[in-house]
Amino acid sequence: MSNWALALHGGAGPLRAASYAREEAYLADLLKQGAQALNAGEASLDVAVRLVAALEASGHHIAGKGAAANADGEYELDAAVMDGAARKAGAVAALRGFLSPIAVARAVMDCTPHVLLVGLGAEAFAAAQGCERVGDPASYYQPIITRPVAPGELAHGTVGAVVRDNAGRLACATSTGGLLNKTPGRVGDTPIIGAGIWADERVAVCCTGQGEMFLRANVAADVSARMAYGGQSVHAAAAGALADMAALGGDGGLIAVDAAGNITMPFVSEGMKRGCITQAGRFEVKTVR
Ligand code: ASP
Repeated sequence: MSNWALALHGGAGPLRAASYAREEAYLADLLKQGAQALNAGEASLDVAVRLVAALEASGHHIAGKGAAANADGEYELDAAVMDGAARKAGAVAALRGFLSPIAVARAVMDCTPHVLLVGLGAEAFAAAQGCERVGDPASYYQPIITRPVAPGELAHGTVGAVVRDNAGRLACATSTGGLLNKTPGRVGDTPIIGAGIWADERVAVCCTGQGEMFLRANVAADVSARMAYGGQSVHAAAAGALADMAALGGDGGLIAVDAAGNITMPFVSEGMKRGCITQAGRFEVKTVR
């Protein structure tokens, strides 16, 4: 069974007027690296986690090194991973002081009977696992956006990957700094299984956008439900789930891949940094329409 497929996103916050050439070049490079790994038979789960870790380290997006501080000037990060074939998941929320939140989320999935660890407990777990720490947060983090945020504004960013491997296994991974200037302790959709991320035997989905609306619409799992109960294609299901979220007044987008390797990357925001590559020959990297 071949037909691998991979999509990445770098968040749905971009503005039409800005240039994202640097981010697009990096996404294109990562897509090619992922293609090589999938061609070589690597598992979707490993590819998804590795590419999200690279996006965290790149500092190009509001995740990992590029994350924005909360209202207290602290960096509280969220991440999640889901293995569709095993229907296993791991996530961390409001994690402080570790280089790769997605690595900690993977360890939660692999090494505990739990799905989600938060705050101090997540940090103690990450330390016990030997996960790499951030030295001095003030010098490690290089927020890509530092502008003041208007009261009530939900300015945001995230990174994500959805993958189908040559064995037909679906997986996804995502990591975020969340909202700019967020209230300490605020957690969005990204580490919430079903809202920001979902993978099963039908589809793998990663969302990005105003997390509060994605939570209220339970977007990621809704894509799978529309496919299962409504017989919809991945394209129709993703568009429908996103429209339901948009009707609440939110903005954002998602990337999804189905069991046949079809990819969809809809968004209702001004732009979404995104790209995909498939064994069938599709290759694209775009930010705005
Ligand atoms: N959904 C993320 C959050 O609300 C932010 C984003 O995807 O841009 O934390």
